[in-house]
Amino acid sequence: MRKIQCNVLIVGGGGAGLRAAIAAKEKRPEAKVVLVTKGKLGESGVTATACSDRMAFHATLEHTEPGGKDAWMLHARDIYEIGGEVSDANLASILARNAADAFHYLDKLGVPFVKKDGKAVQFITDGSDYARACFTGPYTAVHIEQALVRKIRELDIMVIEHCMITRLLTKKGELIGAFGLDMQFETQESVNSIYVFETPNVILATGGAGEIFRHNVYPEGMTGDGYAVAYEAGAELVNMEFIQLGLASTKTKLNCSGSMMRAVPRIVNDSGEEFLAKYFPKEYSLADVYNFVFQKGASWPVTYEHTTHIIDIAIYKETQKGRRVYLDYSKNPDNFDFEKLSEKNKQMYKNEMSVDLGYKLRIKSPLNRLKEINQPSIDWLKARGIDLEQGDMVEVAVCGQHFQGGIRIGEQGNTCIPGLYAIGECAGGQHGANRPGGNALLDGQVFGKIAGEAAVIRALGTNIVEITSQEINKYKSELLELISNKNGIHASELKKQIQEIMTDSASIVRTENKLLEALTTIRELKVQKIVVDKDICHALETKMMLIVSEMVLNACITRKESRGPHLFFERYEDNIPVGRRDPEWQHYLVIKKEKDGMMICKKKPVNRFV
Ligand SMILES: Cc1cc2nc3c(=O)[nH]c(=O)nc-3n(C[C@H](O)[C@H](O)[C@H](O)COP(=O)(O)OP(=O)(O)OC[C@H]3O[C@@H](n4cnc5c(N)ncnc54)[C@H](O)[C@@H]3O)c2cc1C
Repeated sequence: MRKIQCNVLIVGGGGAGLRAAIAAKEKRPEAKVVLVTKGKLGESGVTATACSDRMAFHATLEHTEPGGKDAWMLHARDIYEIGGEVSDANLASILARNAADAFHYLDKLGVPFVKKDGKAVQFITDGSDYARACFTGPYTAVHIEQALVRKIRELDIMVIEHCMITRLLTKKGELIGAFGLDMQFETQESVNSIYVFETPNVILATGGAGEIFRHNVYPEGMTGDGYAVAYEAGAELVNMEFIQLGLASTKTKLNCSGSMMRAVPRIVNDSGEEFLAKYFPKEYSLADVYNFVFQKGASWPVTYEHTTHIIDIAIYKETQKGRRVYLDYSKNPDNFDFEKLSEKNKQMYKNEMSVDLGYKLRIKSPLNRLKEINQPSIDWLKARGIDLEQGDMVEVAVCGQHFQGGIRIGEQGNTCIPGLYAIGECAGGQHGANRPGGNALLDGQVFGKIAGEAAVIRALGTNIVEITSQEINKYKSELLELISNKNGIHASELKKQIQEIMTDSASIVRTENKLLEALTTIRELKVQKIVVDKDICHALETKMMLIVSEMVLNACITRKESRGPHLFFERYEDNIPVGRRDPEWQHYLVIKKEKDGMMICKKKPVNRFV
């Protein structure tokens, strides 16, 4: 057992956690700051590994349109209003107001943002009115992670790799520490590999829970541990039904947005059927359907607010029937006529062209169009074993990409437990149902800095409380009991079951019946004994997934309307979701652990910009 005392413990080594650790140390160099991460520093979590067409970091800079000293206010309004007015407006203000500082800090650390005449080039992302997205290319997040890791190494911050935090400890309602496990130990030795952290301040930066879905674009290990440990400790969670989902390649995890859809590929199942039109209402012509496919390029995440969600519903329903779905670039979709794309879409296509192959080739195949508008995507896929030139197709599914909700935070990243903070993707309240692209990377930087500073200042006035041997022995015996279970459900099987249940009920087609059935099953699984069949951390992650799933299902059942990615249907057979209900549902759902179990209640978000 290793006992470590510190002023601030940061859990997670992604963009948010790294920024918080740096801020805490820069604010009070004499403070003891410890950062733990499940994997290797700079190699685990989403920030360190994510990649897409062009990854976006949102910021209203001095030159950002429409200009003026209050331009950041429009950014704040976008976060709140496009978000569906189910988030806290004060948090949106903080995000937007501090975005320029966050950008300049990263720029100074050497993140290679693309610039012209010394100014960051910015583009428009899903759901934004102005071009605010700064980028380095497909690896913006990775570049941010690398720059922050370089900075961390210059500072006297203790980093513990391969350490999984499994529980938070409180006394009289205040945070006093955490238990962790060294993930490199064999299961049998796990009770000897316990970390005991005695600290009055913990900042959770554990990212999202993409692994609750069969298809997701997260790296391994993203099981929502932060949500689960915070819930168990008594924190509130919010907006857990709003999970960003969209079409991605199952083999490479590439989001199939932008040019991948603007090339208008054939969308076929494994019987070669072009099934899309079947799912659209009769009044839509094939030309309308292809215009929606084109528009899907700019509306990648599933959202109630854009009719392109019918494409995601169609693909989801096909895969749920056990079929596989592909994007085929080798020939045009049935009856496709380039001229029938709307003038707006054709203009957008023209603006995106980097090569002109000529009209005849352009109208001949989606592959030619992709060559004209994004040759690098063809090269990128080829390097990963998908050769579109040779007729390979891209298998796609609706994948989980981001949790917009999480542990409910206040203006300092603080939670309702004194001493507990949450930042980045594991925090909630700063984003609504829709999250304009680019604001997730931003949010980790802004609230990372704020929470890091707040926690280290709080540490000045708080004492370290000893974790009693009684408490440690109780934890040890729980671990021993888990290891010695021989009867019950194997952790690997349980994980698979959770992913099936959640994909079936809480992906993009949500009905009350399916959700209730899923909730009952998850609750039954929660009380079953688990057999450790890989290692103890894997089994504990699976337990966390059960708690997260219960929260998501509960929130989905309660919200009886559609909003953002929450598509609610009267019956599974319907392809048109029920409507959005404003103002009745301009509320968020707060989840908390109570004596009798999981409590969920509707609350009015803060609607005051600051
Ligand atoms: C493919 C993809 C594309 C994206 N594109 C964009 C984009 O263009 N713009 C944008 O703004 N956002 C984008 N996002 C979202 C954004 O990248 C993430 O929300 C963000 O990087 C999350 O950062 P984080 O620091 O909160 O978490 P992460 O970077 O995921 O880090 C979590 C850390 O916590 C650690 N951890 C987890 N559990 C524990 C535990 N129990 N104990 C110890 N450590 C633990 C992990 O090991 C990891 O170090 C994208 C996401 C994906 C997957």
